[in-house]
Amino acid sequence: MTPSPLPPAGQNSDAGQSSDVPTLLVKIFGKDRPGITAGLFDTLAAYSVDVVDIEQVVSRGRLVLCVLVTAPTVASSGELRATVHSWAESLKLEAEIISGIGDNRPRGSGRSHVTVLGHPLTAESTAAIAASITATGGNIDRIFRLAKYPVTAVEFAVSGVATSELRTALATEAAALGVDVAVVSAGLHRRAQRLVVMDVDSTLIQDEVIELFAAHAGCEDEVAEVTAAAMRGELDFEQSLHARVALLRGLDASVVDKVRAEVRLTPGARTLIRTLKALGYQVGVVSGGFTQVTDDLKDRLGLDFASANTLEIEDGKFTGRVTGDVVDRAGKARLLREFAAEAGVPLAQTVAIGDGANDLDMLNAAGLGVAFNAKPVVREAAHTAVNVPFLDTVLYLLGITREEVEAADGLVD
Ligand SMILES: [Mg+2]
Repeated sequence: MTPSPLPPAGQNSDAGQSSDVPTLLVKIFGKDRPGITAGLFDTLAAYSVDVVDIEQVVSRGRLVLCVLVTAPTVASSGELRATVHSWAESLKLEAEIISGIGDNRPRGSGRSHVTVLGHPLTAESTAAIAASITATGGNIDRIFRLAKYPVTAVEFAVSGVATSELRTALATEAAALGVDVAVVSAGLHRRAQRLVVMDVDSTLIQDEVIELFAAHAGCEDEVAEVTAAAMRGELDFEQSLHARVALLRGLDASVVDKVRAEVRLTPGARTLIRTLKALGYQVGVVSGGFTQVTDDLKDRLGLDFASANTLEIEDGKFTGRVTGDVVDRAGKARLLREFAAEAGVPLAQTVAIGDGANDLDMLNAAGLGVAFNAKPVVREAAHTAVNVPFLDTVLYLLGITREEVEAADGLVD
């Protein structure tokens, strides 16, 4: 068909944008096979209609294709309907054609992405979350699955309610249901997030590094006790760090290699980092643990940034002291800012992930703070929480689908 001439400046002649133009919604449902979309549009092309909107979903081999087109002339409208129905019948498809006016209703203001992670995701949880969204006055505009592995992740696009209000309502619901729900505001900044900074102990790795050293020094129980109290926020981090490191005094520095080999990455850690790197993110770690381990992780995982405390070594033995400024709760937030400045990424476009009380300042300073299998005090204060033991599920909170994760997998050696 001949293209329409361009509209004069300032005048909107786009039929699809105009609210008073008659339109037809054509819905096709049935077994998916190649050529359905081409066939439908071939049929419609005979009536010189314009496409206003198209949405297609295929679920377990069943297709739902919804096409919104400008209505043809009144004289040919009946013929269009008859032709589409007979085309659909010839392919054993169902067709429904509904007359109306204009385009889709504009989405409301206050737009958010709600990601729900379930393992499994039950109908009961989904019902409760949808009901909560409705109760806040929000409207669910779209729903789609981000991933089925290692958890079922679905994303709801919601409008009509402020993100903070939705987050508060759903946080309560999620805790009651035992699913993870993340609410982030929609908009360009979500696509622009370009720096992810992680805690190390019990986040990137499953271990607490000082406990690994302590096992070699034979003071594991004493150290574990102090670590647990510090992570619960009951002890000043710096004092507890010095107390624990002092217990390592005299330990042979050759244990560093042993501890590096003992460190167990959290499931999904490699996938998370590989995918982020393939998508152009910069990735760093900050740790209240030790550079003797984080520098090795930086090399092994191809991280852009790493900072931690350094165990002082003299004559091949630990002195029981750390050197330089202590990386504590405030230090972690400061390092996030430094990494962001160095990466050229505004703080609002950073993501921080951590599990302990000493991660709280960093989680709050980041654009998105994710409490990962965190202590309750951290979970309650963070923007969002992940309580399944797979680090790659954080990707779904950023709106990255499993397909994209697998595509990134194919890009690297
Ligand atoms: Mg930690």
